Amino acid sequence: MISVDEAKKIILASVEPVDTEQIPLAESHYRVVAEDVASQDDIPPFDNSSMDGYALYAAEVQDAHSASPVTLKVLEEVQAGDVSQKTLEKGTAVHIMTGAPIPDGADAVIEQELTSSRNGTVGIASPVIKGKNIRRKGEDVRAGQVVVRKGTRLSASHMGALASVGRASVVVFRKPKVAFLTSGNELVRVDSALGPGKIRNSNAYSMLGLLEEAQCSPVELGMTPDNEEVLTRKVNEGIHNDALITSGGVSVGKYDLMLKAMENASVERKFWKVNIKPGGPFAFGVFKRNGKAVPVFALPGNPVSTMVTFLQFVLPGLQKLMGMIPSSRLHVKARLEHDITKKDSKRHFVRGIVRNEAGALVVTTTGSQSSGVLTSMTAANCFIVLPEERKDPKVGEEVEVELL
Ligand code: AMP
Ligand code: MG
Repeated sequence: MISVDEAKKIILASVEPVDTEQIPLAESHYRVVAEDVASQDDIPPFDNSSMDGYALYAAEVQDAHSASPVTLKVLEEVQAGDVSQKTLEKGTAVHIMTGAPIPDGADAVIEQELTSSRNGTVGIASPVIKGKNIRRKGEDVRAGQVVVRKGTRLSASHMGALASVGRASVVVFRKPKVAFLTSGNELVRVDSALGPGKIRNSNAYSMLGLLEEAQCSPVELGMTPDNEEVLTRKVNEGIHNDALITSGGVSVGKYDLMLKAMENASVERKFWKVNIKPGGPFAFGVFKRNGKAVPVFALPGNPVSTMVTFLQFVLPGLQKLMGMIPSSRLHVKARLEHDITKKDSKRHFVRGIVRNEAGALVVTTTGSQSSGVLTSMTAANCFIVLPEERKDPKVGEEVEVELL
C-alpha cells in the first residue's frame, strides 16, 4: 500500500500531454493553450482618454475655481477611432471622447461634467492634475509580454486578451478521448426496473459528469458483467483512447476481475491500493502504445469511492494529459462543529459543508460517511481532509478543508 502523495506522484510521472492542434479563437473556450502567447504591440497602443471631456494642459487651469472659471478655446472634437490633427497651444482645449488618442500638447483630460461649453469655448471650473484621465500606452500589456501562458485553460477573459493581441487562432492541446467503463453483475441501466439484487448504474453518470467537468471527451464503453473475458475485451478496447477509467471489481473479492483483465490486456500495473479512505483499492497502470503511455485508472465501485479517487488521482492525471499547468483545489482551515471518529492511519476525505459563521469558517460533515452513500457527496461543498496521523478530531478543533 502506498500513500496518497506517492500515488499522485507516480501518476503525474507516468502521464504525458497529448499532441496539439490549431483552432479558431472563437472555438477556444475552456481549451488548454499549448504555447506562450505574447503581444506584438503595446496595449493600449496609444495614450488615450478614459473619459468624455476636454483634453488640456493642466498647468493652465491650476487656479480654476467655480467663482473664477478658466475659459479655453475648443480647437476641435475628437471621437474614438479618430486622431486629432491639432496641437494644443496656450488657451486651447480639444473636446475628446473616451478611447480617443490624446492630442499633442495635452497632458490631462477634465471630465465633461466639470465643464460648461459655450460658443466654441469651454469653461473649466476646477483644476485637474497632470495625467488625470489618461490611459497610458502599454499600461495593460507591453510589446513582447506574455498575455496567456502555456498550460492555461482559456476562460472568457483569456479569449478577450487573445483577441486584443490579434490572435485569430490559437494552438491548443487536443481534447483527450477518455474511455470509461463500469462493471458489476448487479448493475442495471438507469431506465431499467430494479430486479432482485440489482442496483442502478450510478457511476456511469457521475463519471460522465466528472469527465465533462474536466473538459475531456468521454467515450462510454458501457456496462460490463464480472466476467474476465468480457472485461479483458473492454479494457483492450479502452486503451485505444488517450486514457481509460474503470469502475468496480478492483478489490479482493472472488469476482473482482479488473486487475486480471488489465494484466490480460498488457497494462503494466504501477500500483494497487492506496492509504486513503474512501477509495483504498484504487489501482493505476499504463499501456504502452506507439511509444506513448496510455494511463489506466481502476476505481473502486462504491459511488463515493469512485468520485473521491477520481478527484484525488484521476483528475490530476487528466490535467497533465491535457497539458495543463497543475492546479489544485483551494485548501482552507475551519473549526469542526462536532467530533469525528477516526481510529486508523489512513488519509480520510470526509464529505463536509463549510460555511462562514460571523467571519470564521466552520465545517460539519454531511452525515453518514459510508462509501455507498452518494447523498453524502451531493450535499457536500468540501472535503474535510484528515491526515494519516490524526486521530478522533474533536468539536472546536481546527481541520483542513479542501473546497469543491
Ligand atoms: P466493487 O468495487 O465492484 O467491489 O463494488 C463496490 C460496491 O459498489 C458494491 O456495493 C457495488 O454494488 C457498488 N457499485 C459498483 N459499481 C457501481 C456502479 N457503477 N454504480 C453504482 N454502484 C456500484
Ligand atoms: Mg463488483
